[in-house]
Amino acid sequence: MPGKPDGPDLQRLDRVVAQARRAREERERGYRERALKLYPWICGRCAREFERANLHELTVHHKDHDHDHNPADGSNWELLCLYCHDNEHQRSLAPAGTPLGEPDPAAGATQTPFASLAALLKRDDAL
Ligand SMILES: [Zn+2]
Ligand SMILES: [Zn+2]
Repeated sequence: MPGKPDGPDLQRLDRVVAQARRAREERERGYRERALKLYPWICGRCAREFERANLHELTVHHKDHDHDHNPADGSNWELLCLYCHDNEHQRSLAPAGTPLGEPDPAAGATQTPFASLAALLKRDDAL
């Protein structure tokens, strides 16, 4: 029996996790402050305005969804209120039950009329 590695290992794991979490929090505070200095305190979706009292409801969204991509010019940031930020991330998820790469029959049904409408418009232009 080579002893019980659980105790010390778990403690070390806890420390590593805590360190990683602290580092991430510091990094997030860093880009959040920079974004708030760079941009007016307004939600990019619903145009709600913020002030110091409710600034915690204004969040920094990463346009490419990569939280490690923080260019100094702020081109990857967008200030969004909590609600719009939630929506933004839900919108980018595939609808539940739709396997990736499979055509969604509902989407096809909504796309077809527009496609034929576009074809009709093109024909009208040509006439
Ligand atoms: Zn909003
Ligand atoms: Zn986001």
